[in-house]
Amino acid sequence: MTAPLVIIGTGLAGYNLAREFRKHDSQTPLLLITADDGRSYSKPMLSTGFAMGKDANSLGMLDAGQMAIQLDAEIRTHTRVTRLDPDNRRVWIGNEPVPYRDLVLAWGAQPIHVPLAGDATDRVFSINDLLDYGRFREAAQGKRRVLILGTGLIGCEFANDLLQGGYEVDLVAPGEQVMPALLPAAVAAAVQDGLESLGARFHFGAVVERVDHVAEGLQAQLSSGKLLSCDLVVSAVGLRPRIELAVEAGLEAARGIVVDRYLRTSARHVYALGDCAEVDGLSLLYVMPLMSGVRALARTLAGSATAVSYGPMPVTVKTPVCPLVVSPPALGSEGGWAIEGEGRDITALFQAADGRLLGYALAGAAVQQRLMLNKQLPPVLAEVPQVLSLTPSN
Ligand SMILES: Cc1cc2nc3c(=O)[nH]c(=O)nc-3n(C[C@H](O)[C@H](O)[C@H](O)COP(=O)(O)OP(=O)(O)OC[C@H]3O[C@@H](n4cnc5c(N)ncnc54)[C@H](O)[C@@H]3O)c2cc1C
Repeated sequence: MTAPLVIIGTGLAGYNLAREFRKHDSQTPLLLITADDGRSYSKPMLSTGFAMGKDANSLGMLDAGQMAIQLDAEIRTHTRVTRLDPDNRRVWIGNEPVPYRDLVLAWGAQPIHVPLAGDATDRVFSINDLLDYGRFREAAQGKRRVLILGTGLIGCEFANDLLQGGYEVDLVAPGEQVMPALLPAAVAAAVQDGLESLGARFHFGAVVERVDHVAEGLQAQLSSGKLLSCDLVVSAVGLRPRIELAVEAGLEAARGIVVDRYLRTSARHVYALGDCAEVDGLSLLYVMPLMSGVRALARTLAGSATAVSYGPMPVTVKTPVCPLVVSPPALGSEGGWAIEGEGRDITALFQAADGRLLGYALAGAAVQQRLMLNKQLPPVLAEVPQVLSLTPSN
């Protein structure tokens, strides 16, 4: 019997790859392995649950059994892969070896945890999958005040959603603005203003040092000495691609698992896709690059080697109180921001010295310009010229 194509992970990367692969190949046995319950869901929806009136169960779509039928695949749920063994073309689940024809690592990224003192660290939630979200929603029932650690994209999205859901929200971050890695100050100010208009309270230039139980809920102590009362804490300080098992097995990794344009890792017959992968130097934890990877890799795995390329990749941030679309300039781009607009309607264009558009951030009514601006943006990962394209050697 031929060994299966094995995919580790049933997030958007794993399931979409399986679905796309089946369009090209209905024969090869397919095995998906996941540490969670294998329900299919769209992770971006997790930060819209309150506004949409959906809890974890209604955000889940098909369960693992239904997915197995749809994909003509075997799906092993609540099963953690513990070791890769590329020399022998197998992975290990504890003491059980599982052979593969090809292996795809689609095991995502994990939340970064900041060390916190105090006796209430069990009330600190990271929300990175549907099961996390279910636990959080249960804990939030009947509660009123949420403290969010981090004012990045995910912290701000949760803030907007919780405020819409009727919660009081405090946000704490060491920097001076929201989404410091993504936004110029003027656009960040527009988003902050929007969230404040819903009642958000920002505490910049500080980190949370401890969280303790007190008579009425919890008390958080900030590095500034300030004390904040809350009922539960959401930690949204960032995500880190999962690389440990890959590194242990000798695969090359940097921020993510290093892959080339064919999504090949440094080990033969092993590929990586989605949040865990660093594609040609780019570690982008978004759906659009993941879907480009899905289409290319499905073809490659079905026998027709296909390189991935990315066009412009604008990100829509789900802060409805201040709509926001951002296409950050490539790391190390030379140029500067030109800012126009007033109130929450801000156009920020990142331009090279010769006037070429390299990135943008649009807030409020300015988001309408995105389609026009997308046409001017350079691709994030240009197409591989045919003469340079290599056929995978493994
Ligand atoms: C709240 C939130 C909102 C977001 N909003 C947006 C948005 O609006 N737009 C956008 O583009 N992106 C957004 N993102 C990012 C986007 O959701 C991710 O880029 C994408 O879902 C990643 O999918 P993935 O399949 O690579 O990883 P994951 O969905 O994390 O899947 C990883 C899978 O691997 C499994 N796994 C991990 N380790 C093991 C192991 N050792 N053994 C077996 N299985 C394992 C897990 O159980 C899981 O099934 C958002 C993210 C969050 C958290």
